[in-house]
Amino acid sequence: MVSFGCEDKNKTPIPEERICPQCGEEIEVFTVKGRVIEDAVCTCGYVIREEAPILTVQDIQ
Ligand SMILES: [Zn+2]
Repeated sequence: MVSFGCEDKNKTPIPEERICPQCGEEIEVFTVKGRVIEDAVCTCGYVIREEAPILTVQDIQ
């Protein structure tokens, strides 16, 4: 059993649909707070790259 506290909530990856700019298909990516956390490859070969983390005051605390 896994329970998430307030701190973990923002770090739980959320699956999100993105539209491939190359073929228009939907690609499922995993995001944390809107940031893609791992590369996602479309069936056409296009890769949505992981986005670099942007540190905010909230992340440091
Ligand atoms: Zn594609």
